[in-house]
Amino acid sequence: MAITKSTFPQLSLPETNLFSFIFARKERPFPDSHVIFHDGETDKAYSYARVRQAAVDFGTGLKARFDWRKGDVLALFASNDIDTPAVTMGTLWAGGVVSPSNPGYTPAELAYQLKDSGSRAIVTQFHLLDTVKKACDLAGFGRDSIILLGDQRDPSGQIPHYTSVRNISGATRYRATKLNPKHDLAFLVYSSGTTGKPKGVRLSHYNLTSNVSQLQPGEQYNLTWDGSRTCGDIPLPKTGSGDKVLTCLPYFHIYGLTTTVFNPLYTGTTSIVMARFEIEKWCSLVQKHSITFSYIVPPIVLLLCKHPAVPKYDLSSIRMTNSGAAPLSREMVETCFKRTGVRVKQGYGLSETSPTAFNQPWDEWNVTIGSVGKVLSNMEAKICTPIDASDAPSEHAEADPLPQGQVGELHVRGPNIFLGYHNNDAATKESLSPSGWFHTGDVGYIDANGNFFITDRVKELIKYKGFQVAPAELEGYLLEHPLVDDCAVVGIHSESLGTEVPRAYVVPKPGAQRKDASEIIQWLGSRVANHKKLRGGVVFVEEIPKTASGKILRRVMREWVKAEKLEA
Ligand code: AMP
Repeated sequence: MAITKSTFPQLSLPETNLFSFIFARKERPFPDSHVIFHDGETDKAYSYARVRQAAVDFGTGLKARFDWRKGDVLALFASNDIDTPAVTMGTLWAGGVVSPSNPGYTPAELAYQLKDSGSRAIVTQFHLLDTVKKACDLAGFGRDSIILLGDQRDPSGQIPHYTSVRNISGATRYRATKLNPKHDLAFLVYSSGTTGKPKGVRLSHYNLTSNVSQLQPGEQYNLTWDGSRTCGDIPLPKTGSGDKVLTCLPYFHIYGLTTTVFNPLYTGTTSIVMARFEIEKWCSLVQKHSITFSYIVPPIVLLLCKHPAVPKYDLSSIRMTNSGAAPLSREMVETCFKRTGVRVKQGYGLSETSPTAFNQPWDEWNVTIGSVGKVLSNMEAKICTPIDASDAPSEHAEADPLPQGQVGELHVRGPNIFLGYHNNDAATKESLSPSGWFHTGDVGYIDANGNFFITDRVKELIKYKGFQVAPAELEGYLLEHPLVDDCAVVGIHSESLGTEVPRAYVVPKPGAQRKDASEIIQWLGSRVANHKKLRGGVVFVEEIPKTASGKILRRVMREWVKAEKLEA
């Protein structure tokens, strides 16, 4: 029996809200004027002090204009933009909770999150305004709850502009809202968790300040704002100045927020921000800014391994990259280094762990390839008998750990574990034990040195290029199609795309023809965001395997996929 304790140093964690953690830090190593966010497209740049001031101004505007109260939720629907960190921090200053969502969402998907989160206002950009207006109509929200970022204004004049909220004059009587860091929420991010539709993951201020702190020994310790530290034989920043982090992860995911918004503000590393990822743009920004670090996902590693344009660029300034969100093979890490000289290490986590739970130390990147690293400071991990989501009981008893080295489901405990799902006690009980162990739904083993290797999943979740796809959500739509009698959606691996893709097994209504499969794919494609499309196709079957209580037996379906692969 083995519980794995962290081998990173035990930390004394701050008990303060996220705004004060970042902006009221006593021994900050860099000056107010230091540039934190630099727009990769326009070269507009914001210093630490400017972000702080913009955040307080925006928070003040929220209080003055919207009578903002503690716990009020602000929806954020935007592409990466160097103005959104101030929106986020300002909302926290005003006691609010930020609920970011994917700017690729359809109006119906956005309306679902607006309603479920109980958002009071939504911040967006001009190019997304049509979607937001439609979503507000669907959710029954007034147009005056939309706040527009950027240079363009709404021609109707109905929609408040960011600057008009930020520049409310005579509002100096407002103060930061007092918060209880362990109980009050900073974020409500959406994840399908182990089973079912997307749910609000309740992340407290303490969850976030802990995770930023936990990243310091394993990772951020090696990054430096002034170029003064190194790690083993991994070189210092070539320019002699500090590390430059290239940000291509979306700010609407907690992985992007913690690593590329809060960490730069905390450590002083400058972040060069991309609105959208594109491989040649990424390479040219690395070359132009002598980028030293980037958080990436496996499909980007695949592009570094294969894309014909990559060798045209000088990527030699990169000291390290970190891949997370989806599995990465040993072969890709090795090919990437051979072809480009870019080192890739891994981290692992979930929305529910704020998000990082395991991290491969920099100096082990080429020793423990294939592992997602070691459990972070102040955390514990255990591997337990896996329970498939279809068979899971509604409440878990405390599970005993399996002997070291055995394969099973990963359970973790620590200060970064979420508080539960929003308005969903049943889902919370299914995934959190009474003593705080979180059942990740991921399967793997921990070796004798504490390195975790992921081998499988027992939850329903599908990840397309690191983005979540909840089978239950797609099944809900498909059951509305006139030719679909019953259905189940599972993930299959696509070699060419280097990612999982969703596939639907469909029991057709009488009269449906084989050719109708492509019509169903198109029909669903027009109703969901790009990453949820049925890229794995539609397969007609006679029956969907189910338990006696009617739950889909996804493990049987995963066996179908495996068998098909063997036959191919
Ligand atoms: P999310 O909540 O969107 O961050 O998704 C979390 C899920 O992504 C985890 O439960 C894993 O299934 C998957 N994941 C995250 N990091 C990794 C990794 N390094 N390797 C394999 N899967 C990962």
